[in-house]
Amino acid sequence: MMRRLAILGSTGSIGTSTLDVVEAHPEHFQVMALAARANLDLLEAQVRRHSLRLVTVATEAAAQELRRRLGRTATEVGSGAAGLLQAASDAGADLVVSAIVGGAGLLPTMGAIMAGKDVALANKESLVMAGDLVTAEARRRGVRILPVDSEHSAIFQCLGDGGASQVRRIVLTASGGPFRTRTRATFASITPDEALRHPNWSMGKKITIDSATLMNKGLEVIEAHWLFGLPMDQVDVIIHPQSIIHSLVEYVDGSVLAQLGVADMRIPIQYALTYPQRRVNRVPRLSLERLAGLTFEPVDREKFPCLDLAYEAARAGGSSPTVLNAANEVAVHRFLDRRIGFEEIPTLIRKALDAHPRRAVGSVEEVLEVDREVRRRLEDD
Ligand code: NAD
Ligand code: MG
Repeated sequence: MMRRLAILGSTGSIGTSTLDVVEAHPEHFQVMALAARANLDLLEAQVRRHSLRLVTVATEAAAQELRRRLGRTATEVGSGAAGLLQAASDAGADLVVSAIVGGAGLLPTMGAIMAGKDVALANKESLVMAGDLVTAEARRRGVRILPVDSEHSAIFQCLGDGGASQVRRIVLTASGGPFRTRTRATFASITPDEALRHPNWSMGKKITIDSATLMNKGLEVIEAHWLFGLPMDQVDVIIHPQSIIHSLVEYVDGSVLAQLGVADMRIPIQYALTYPQRRVNRVPRLSLERLAGLTFEPVDREKFPCLDLAYEAARAGGSSPTVLNAANEVAVHRFLDRRIGFEEIPTLIRKALDAHPRRAVGSVEEVLEVDREVRRRLEDD
């Protein structure tokens, strides 16, 4: 069976791995649309390898430059929010890979669902911001949200057809990031370069910083809560530095199922693209003989306060997870620009949560209004 894809965020870490999977199985996939912000060199090369219906970039200036480079071609070149929405909903795809980073992924993800497309979801921020709205819309339209995030793919695989009804809890594994063993007393001197050196995974900058603060695990707990319909108290986190077990499901009878594999995102990406099939690939195999050991330890919640901030925001509900997400994005950018220190990331998020008391949000527009308010207020500070 041929699956027609739109890949949003095609020049990123997930986007390029997705194209790797697609190009290894040309008989199974056809790429209809690509979307990215501004990396025109890479995007142009991607367009030339596939006969697309649409390619879209962030600005009209970038679109004009891309049109000039592509010359005469059947591929339409779009731009801005409209282009992104068109790629998600109206470019002939039946599965949309949502792999833009940050809150910018919410509108196209929702657009894809409203247009009745299945979504392979990497953009966890859209579920953090609007998990109830997004999952309710998916149920209404009868479309699937297939997890790309490795932990969620693991849970999805361990749940099988039974779903979450006989589950006692799910346990998301976390590598602990680059500062797992570093003493908190030295956290003030952490540089962006140090924080960008993830021990096990190679990823985009934003999620790499989130992994160093453990906010990534906080966002993933919220993502799991919405994807699998489990209350927050049934979603736990454990540190597993080797990143071989990607997550676990504990059933009511004490049986625990885990999914293992090498730390290579092409495995969960491919499963989302070929579900419910599995296909042969050339991703390196897990060699159990060469594993020195699998170890586990509890999270040091004082050293990494972002995890509890995420639980707190999710339990408060309403606008709070949107506030958490927006403040985190601002804080991560400021840290990367060396405007704040590593330890100020949770401080800034704490302040934003206190400054924006929970309120109800009933639509994606209201969610985006909260997102803009948080960013505006942080700019004024
Ligand atoms: P990345 O920074 O490598 O790539 C981001 C992509 O989004 C790029 O193609 C960029 O051009 C595009 N983009 C950004 N803003 C845009 C905008 N306004 N309009 C159009 N395109 C825009 O990020 P990544 O590491 O690939 O992560 C993408 C998403 O996947 C994030 O939500 C992340 O949390 C999630 N995720 C990533 C990994 C991983 O291994 N990298 C694992 C799990 C989940
Ligand atoms: Mg993950």
